[in-house]
Amino acid sequence: MAGWPGHIVIVGGGTAGWLAAMMLSDVAARKKLPTRVTVIESSKIGTIGVGEGTTAVFRQMLRHFRIDEEEFLAATGATIKYGIRHRDWRRLGHSYDGPIDDPHLVAHGAPLHTYAIAAGRSVGEAHLFQHLLNARRAPFAVKDGRNVPAGPFHHAYHFDQALAGRFLRSKAKGIEIIDDQVAGVETGEGGITALVMESGQRVEGDFFLDCTGFRRALIRELGAEWVSYREVLPVNRAMPFWVDLKEGEEIDPCTLAWAQKNGWMWWIPTQGRYGAGYVYSDAHTTPDEAKAEIEAALGYEIHPRNDIRIDAGRQKEVWIGNCVAVGLSSSFLEPLEATSIHGTVVQIMMLSEWIDQPVGRDLYNATVARQVDDFRDFIRLHYVSTRRDSPFWRDVAESHPQVVRDRVALWQTKLPVATDFDPLPMGLAHTGIELYRPVLDGLGLLSRDLAKAEMAKDKPARDKARATHQVLVTEYARAAAQCAPHREWLSSLKQEIAA
Ligand SMILES: Cc1cc2nc3c(=O)[nH]c(=O)nc-3n(C[C@H](O)[C@H](O)[C@H](O)COP(=O)(O)OP(=O)(O)OC[C@H]3O[C@@H](n4cnc5c(N)ncnc54)[C@H](O)[C@@H]3O)c2cc1C
Repeated sequence: MAGWPGHIVIVGGGTAGWLAAMMLSDVAARKKLPTRVTVIESSKIGTIGVGEGTTAVFRQMLRHFRIDEEEFLAATGATIKYGIRHRDWRRLGHSYDGPIDDPHLVAHGAPLHTYAIAAGRSVGEAHLFQHLLNARRAPFAVKDGRNVPAGPFHHAYHFDQALAGRFLRSKAKGIEIIDDQVAGVETGEGGITALVMESGQRVEGDFFLDCTGFRRALIRELGAEWVSYREVLPVNRAMPFWVDLKEGEEIDPCTLAWAQKNGWMWWIPTQGRYGAGYVYSDAHTTPDEAKAEIEAALGYEIHPRNDIRIDAGRQKEVWIGNCVAVGLSSSFLEPLEATSIHGTVVQIMMLSEWIDQPVGRDLYNATVARQVDDFRDFIRLHYVSTRRDSPFWRDVAESHPQVVRDRVALWQTKLPVATDFDPLPMGLAHTGIELYRPVLDGLGLLSRDLAKAEMAKDKPARDKARATHQVLVTEYARAAAQCAPHREWLSSLKQEIAA
C-alpha cells in the first residue's frame, strides 16, 4: 500500500475492534497523518461475553495511552493477574504456577534458573509475582494513602470482556461510530470498496479491519481459508458459566487452569464473580456429561451460559487485499495461556508498522501465521502429562505432534536456552524461554541432572546464582508481605473513584 490509508473502517466493537481503533488512530495522530477511523458495531449482535485474562502487554498498552490503571480497575471490575496456576496437569494432585514475564532472565541470565532447577526448587521462586500470588496481595503497598509499587514489573489483568470493551470505547477519541450491521460487502480489484449496512447506508473506505469475531463477516467474503488445528489441539467445546464471589472471600491474583477428565476448566476472577468454563473434547464426552463432571468436581450445580464450538485454528492469510482480520475472526485457540488478546495487541502493533510498506502484506501474513502456530505448539506442550486416568488423557498421550515430541526430546539432552525460540520482529513479546521454562519445570520436563552438571562446570557462576537466588527469594517475600491484600485494595479503588 502506498502511504497510510485515508479512511480505515473497523467492523466490530468487541475488545479487538476497540483496541485496533485506539491503537491505529493513535499511530496516525503521532505521525500527523490525516487518517480517519470509523468503527461499525452492531448493538443487535453481542460480543463474545466471557471473562478474560490478559498478559502484561495489556498494561503496557494502557500506560502508552496514559490510561489510569486505578480508573481502569474500578470501572471494569478487573482484578490483578500474576500468572496461571495449573492444577492436575502433570498428575492428579500436582499444581504449578507460571508467573508471567520473568524479567530476571534478562537481568541475571540463565544461571539463576539453572541453579533453581539443580537445587530442585521451582523456577518461579525468584520472581516477585510468585510471592505476590502466594500471599494474594496487590502489587502495591499503601503508605500514607499512596500506592507504592512492589516492583518494576508489569502484571496482567482479569476482566469482564464486555466492561473492558465499553471502557476502551469511552477512551477512544476522534473515532466515528456507526451502530449498524454489515449486510453486504462490495469488492473490486484491490479488495473491499464499500460495506452495505442493514439500514441501506454504504460505507466506503481505503482499508478495512474485520473484527467481527466468529462471524468473520468481511474476510470470508474475500475467499479466506481456515487452517484448522483440530489435529493438534484436543479440545473443541467450551461451556462458560459464572460463579459468584463469596462475601469476604479473598481473590486469587491468578487464572486457575484446572485439568479435568476430558479437558480443563478455567477460573477467571473479576471483582464480583468468577468467569469460569469447561473446555472439553466432545469426542470423549457429551455436554450433559461434561456439566455433570464439573458439578461433581465443584460440589454444586452450575448454569452454563453458552455452548461454544471451538474450531481452533487461524486464517491462512489474515490480510487479503485491503482487509485484515483481527481478534477472533483471525484465529482462535483454547484460552489456556491468554494468547488471544495478547496476540491481537501484537498484531495491531505490527500492522501499524507495515500497513504502508510494499512488503507489508506478505511479511504480516507470514509473521501472524508463525505467531499463532507458535501459540498452538506452546499450548499443546501443556498436555505432556503422566495422566492416563481417562480415555481423553490416554488419547492425548498417544497423539503428541512431532514438533512437541522433538522439543521435549531435545530438552532431555540439554536445558532450553533463549535461542531455541524464534523471536518476533521488533522484539515484540512472544512465546520464548520466559514462558516455556515454568511450564517445562512444572511438568517435570527439565532435567535436574543436566542442571547440576551445568552448574558444576562453573563454580563461581553457581555461587553467584545461589547468592542472587537467595537474595531475590528473601527480598520478594518481604516485599509481598508489605503489600495490601488483593480484594481490600481493589475495593479501596472503587471507594476512591466513587468519592
Ligand atoms: C471461551 C472463551 C474464553 C476466552 N478467554 C480468553 C482469555 O482468557 N484471554 C484472552 O486473551 N482471550 C480470551 N478469549 C478470546 C477473547 O474473548 C477475544 O480475543 C476478545 O474478546 C476479542 O473478541 P473480538 O473482539 O474479536 O470478537 P467479539 O467480542 O465477538 O466482538 C465481535 C464484534 O463484531 C460485531 N459484529 C459481528 N458481526 C457484525 C456485522 N455483520 N456487522 C456489524 N458488526 C458486527 C459485534 O457486534 C461485536 O461488536 C476467550 C474466548 C472464548 C470463546
